[in-house]
Amino acid sequence: MIRRRGFPNADAPLPELISRCVHCGLCLPTCPTFAELGVEMDSPRGRIRLMKNVWDGRLDADSAAFADHMAKCLDCRACETACPSGVSFGKLMEAARSQVLAARRPNLAEALLRRAAFRGLITSPARLALFARFGYLSKRLGARTILRAIGMKRLAELLDLVPEKAPTSAALPARFAAIGTKRGTVALFTGCVMRAAFADTNAATARVLARNGIEVLVPATQTCCGALHAHAGERGGARELAKRNISGLEPLAVDAFIVNAAGCGANLKEYGWLLKDDQEWAERGERFSARVKDASEYLAAVGLAERPGPVRATAAYDDPCHLIHGQKISAQPRALLAAIPELRLVPLAEADWCCGSAGTYNVTQPELAARLGHRKAQHIVRSGAEMVVTANPGCQMQIEAALRREGARVPVVHLMDLLDRAYASR
Ligand code: SF4
Ligand code: SF4
Repeated sequence: MIRRRGFPNADAPLPELISRCVHCGLCLPTCPTFAELGVEMDSPRGRIRLMKNVWDGRLDADSAAFADHMAKCLDCRACETACPSGVSFGKLMEAARSQVLAARRPNLAEALLRRAAFRGLITSPARLALFARFGYLSKRLGARTILRAIGMKRLAELLDLVPEKAPTSAALPARFAAIGTKRGTVALFTGCVMRAAFADTNAATARVLARNGIEVLVPATQTCCGALHAHAGERGGARELAKRNISGLEPLAVDAFIVNAAGCGANLKEYGWLLKDDQEWAERGERFSARVKDASEYLAAVGLAERPGPVRATAAYDDPCHLIHGQKISAQPRALLAAIPELRLVPLAEADWCCGSAGTYNVTQPELAARLGHRKAQHIVRSGAEMVVTANPGCQMQIEAALRREGARVPVVHLMDLLDRAYASR
């Protein structure tokens, strides 16, 4: 029986993780919420202190202060990269949020909303695709003007996040044959948001891999990875989805499970941790996670079999937090971009700084998310880039919206879409 004084259940942040923090403060300059708010309790060190206070029984897990400082965290994990003591902040934060949820017991309206979002929408590709299409059409038909006129400003702001480009949700073929000499076989993880709104990017990822001699399977036996559930403290739902993916994908004889959404990749790589207390699943989770690779990580490791064609443009690369901090992948996407002839990559200030998307952060903390989006957009404009490249759908939507608000016409493209375009230009 694990000790959990002050916390409502066994998913509590582990004391052995908390005690790794030596309060040195080296993470503070890398924390976007500390930079924006200047409040110690909105820094990594402050948040860890609050978790310790709950453990020690000096603070209640259901207190408004605890809930607020945990909710304001982006879970961007920049503090993990900066921390010399190896504090696994992401694990602590996800555990802390699950405790807030368990301790606070949401009111009926919030409980119903959570149920609809986490059980009814995110896990259903068909409903999510319908939702994406509805959002796109509402925006095109001027719903934002009407919403603002009737005082529903918040809803109008949410529609701002909807991409200008129509969502694509067409089903992919079950297999993309390798082109040329076959060098491997992988399974493509198609994700929930990617499948519902960015199916073109999934197809582009498969084409780029196939072009490089990799056979790509698109298994129907997969579901949402559960990242949004885990970030929002819905540990039960996250575990359920993890088990479904492990059961559905582990029998496949493939070299890797390929992911093109950084948030999904980081979560899939932590199934072992998520299921660590479940005797039957812990080891299977570890084995599954070891086979997960980001598309750029895999391609850079196997090497490009064929050089892409030229793309005449100046581009800036923005690191998705869950790629650079969650998976420690930053050199590989840049190496792939460097392989595109005539593409000029310019430096982007704070490229490793969260854009404010952070799972559902731009929905739950719109004001702070907008401030971070503004900060990102300003850096992009100053970089002189004609396009921004990234590798996560949430970042794409948030940066696009932030740039639109600045009046900057800089397209945001996924790395795999750009590579696909480069191959098509050969
Ligand atoms: S989380 Fe790491 S870097 Fe930050 S205060 Fe604690 S030990 Fe120092
Ligand atoms: S995860 Fe990001 S926002 Fe949260 S404490 Fe760490 S650096 Fe700050």
